[in-house]
Amino acid sequence: MHSDNEVQSESRQEPPAPAELSGLKQFQSAGRGFWHDVPDHDWNDWKWQLKNRITNLTQLQRLMPTLTPEEFAGTKLADHKLALAITPYFFNLIDPADENCPIRRQMIPRVEETHVASWEMSDPCGEDSHSPVPGLVHRYPDRVLFLVTDRCASYCRYCTRSRLVSNATGYDFHPEFDKQIAYIAAHPEIRDVLLSGGDPLLFSDEKLEYLLSRLRAIPHVEFLRIGTRIPIFLPQRITPELCAMLKQFHPLFLSIHSNHPRELTTEVREALGRLADAGIPLGNQSVLLKHVNDDATIMQAHMQKLLMCRVKPYYLYQCDLIAGSAHLRASVRSGLEIMEKLRGHTTGYAVPTYVIDAPGGGGKVPVSPEYVLSRDADRVVIRNYEGKIFEYPEAADGSPLTAPPVTIVEPELA
Ligand code: SF4
Repeated sequence: MHSDNEVQSESRQEPPAPAELSGLKQFQSAGRGFWHDVPDHDWNDWKWQLKNRITNLTQLQRLMPTLTPEEFAGTKLADHKLALAITPYFFNLIDPADENCPIRRQMIPRVEETHVASWEMSDPCGEDSHSPVPGLVHRYPDRVLFLVTDRCASYCRYCTRSRLVSNATGYDFHPEFDKQIAYIAAHPEIRDVLLSGGDPLLFSDEKLEYLLSRLRAIPHVEFLRIGTRIPIFLPQRITPELCAMLKQFHPLFLSIHSNHPRELTTEVREALGRLADAGIPLGNQSVLLKHVNDDATIMQAHMQKLLMCRVKPYYLYQCDLIAGSAHLRASVRSGLEIMEKLRGHTTGYAVPTYVIDAPGGGGKVPVSPEYVLSRDADRVVIRNYEGKIFEYPEAADGSPLTAPPVTIVEPELA
């Protein structure tokens, strides 16, 4: 049923085929793959997973003889840009028979990483220029980014902080916790601290507890957040002990980072369930990546699957202009088309905010398909997700109308 204000219809967007969508949303274990003879107590030990990461060309060739010439050359050069590291657990999600496997594209270096355009940057979000003390980024008025480490469980080839993480470029990152904490304590306007890196959940429980306690002791810090990809790369790290420690610091939110529904395995669902049971609100950040998730059906499946894991899709990022990332960057146009196919077509909770981090350090700018078609003297003309057009009577200055709108406006769709 439509409202009286409906004045025009457009053809309806076709929803994804249900079979394809439900196939993408199946939860599967990553399995043991090449590590089938490893005892359970090792496989389920996050420290064993870290010790046994794939970090060099020889290991990679042995495990994946299907390496392409582009991947071979990229891996040889990786140590000069961003190290190669993949946990055995996450490696099992790669399909060695598929050159375009979405996990493979995110993890295996390619020679295209050495192709750098003049508009690409090593610090596309301008973090270093907003850093009052090493490891602290104060870009927005009431919150700071607290970088705690340059290490991650695995390295993403599109990482916006690849200048820093893994120390492949010799950035030599040394956060100084005392100085970072002193800055926060001296700035009462900072009410929100986001711990990130690198990945804070690589710290031991004790070290993380020490940092969180010191931050919690600052009276004006209302809200703590941790940005982490550990639940995706290393779900074994999400132990009951870690969850019990984290729950002392509420309100504490966790932003995870996943890009494709295949990353949401049964192991990940269980790890996220432990965090949610500890009362930790969970959000997800995805990066829009070419041939990984720049497809409306994949994105919808991913967003719906996140909700099934008790995670709210938070941001969808346009891939930053990080040097050597052109082969992974999907277009803004494709991002807008995907958002168009999400909004209204699925649960509002499943719709992230699509943002571009303004190149050079302008902060996050939300971008969205246009739903306000025009603002006239006596109405705002809008369209819904089906392309149907409606009018909201209102004077141009925002005040209520004293007489009904008189003329019918039928604008062209943008
Ligand atoms: S986990 Fe995050 S910080 Fe680490 S490489 Fe991936 S995107 Fe970068």
